[in-house]
Amino acid sequence: VSEFRQNPATKEWVIVAPERAKRPDQFARAGERKPKPAFDKDCPFCRGNEAKTPPEVYRIDRDGDWGVRVVPNKFAALHPTQEPERVRENLYLKVQGFGVAEVVIETPEHHQTLATMAVPAVRDVLMAYLQRYHELAKDDRLDLITIFRNHGERAGTSLEHPHSQIIATPIVPINLRHQIERAQRYSDDHGLCVYCTILLQEQSLEARIVVESRHFIAFEPHASRSPFETWIMPHRHASVFGQITPHEIDDLALVLRMVLAKLYYGIKDPDYNYVTHSAPVDEEGVEYFHNFTEAHNPGGL
Ligand SMILES: [Zn+2]
Ligand SMILES: [Zn+2]
Repeated sequence: VSEFRQNPATKEWVIVAPERAKRPDQFARAGERKPKPAFDKDCPFCRGNEAKTPPEVYRIDRDGDWGVRVVPNKFAALHPTQEPERVRENLYLKVQGFGVAEVVIETPEHHQTLATMAVPAVRDVLMAYLQRYHELAKDDRLDLITIFRNHGERAGTSLEHPHSQIIATPIVPINLRHQIERAQRYSDDHGLCVYCTILLQEQSLEARIVVESRHFIAFEPHASRSPFETWIMPHRHASVFGQITPHEIDDLALVLRMVLAKLYYGIKDPDYNYVTHSAPVDEEGVEYFHNFTEAHNPGGL
C-alpha cells in the first residue's frame, strides 16, 4: 500500500509506494559498464596529462606521486574575478556570475571510483574538500560552499575520470534557504535541532541505518524522495561542512566508502549524485541547522 510521508525537517510530503519499488538490478544502467583503462591518453585528469588542466590550486601527494589534485573548473559558468555587485534595473535585480568552481580529481587512475579506492585515498579526497572549504570560506564575497559528486551519465557527468566538484557562490539557492528556514522554525518551536532529533530517532529505530561509526551515521530517511536516498550525518551537531575536524574526516572516509561500496557491489554500480547540505558560511555554529551529505539516485528526484 502506498502512503504519503512527511520529512519532519522540511515539512515536504513525498509518496512512498512499496509495490512500485524497483528490484535492485533495475538500477544498473542499460548495458554493462565497459571496463575502463587505468590510463586514457585523451583524459585531462589522468596521470601524465596534468598540463591539460589549469594549474592546480591544491594537491595531496601519495606514494611519490600526486594522489588528489584540485583545479579550477574551466567549463563553469561562474568566474572568480567578477565582483558580486547587485544591479537593479526597474523591478529586476541581478548579480554578475561571480563565484568559484573547482574540480577535485580524486585519483590519478582513470578506472577507479571512490567505492573501489582504499580508505586512506578516500580520506585524501575528503581532506581536499575540507581544505578547500576553509580556503574559500575566507573570501567574504562568498556565502555558500557546496561540494557534490555526479557518478555516471544519468547523474550528469561527461568526464568518466573520478572527480567531484566544489561550487562557492554569493547566492543561497531557494531550496536550501527554505530547508534552513524550516529547521530554524523547528528550533524556535522546540528548542532543538530537528536533525539531531531525527538522528536520535533513527538510532533508536535502527530500521533504516546503513552503517554507523563513532562519528557518523548513514541512514535512509523515512520520507525518501528517491530510491537509495541516504543521509550521512555527523553525530556532533555542526551547521557547516567546514566544522568537521580532520580526525572526524578519517571516520567519514570509512562511512562514505562503505555507503558507496554497497551501491557499487550491491546494486551494480548505479548512477548517483551526492551533495553536501551545509549552512551558509556566515551561519557556521548556529543551533538550528545540522550539515549532512545526501546521496541519491538521479532519476528519483
Ligand atoms: Zn582519466
Ligand atoms: Zn543538530
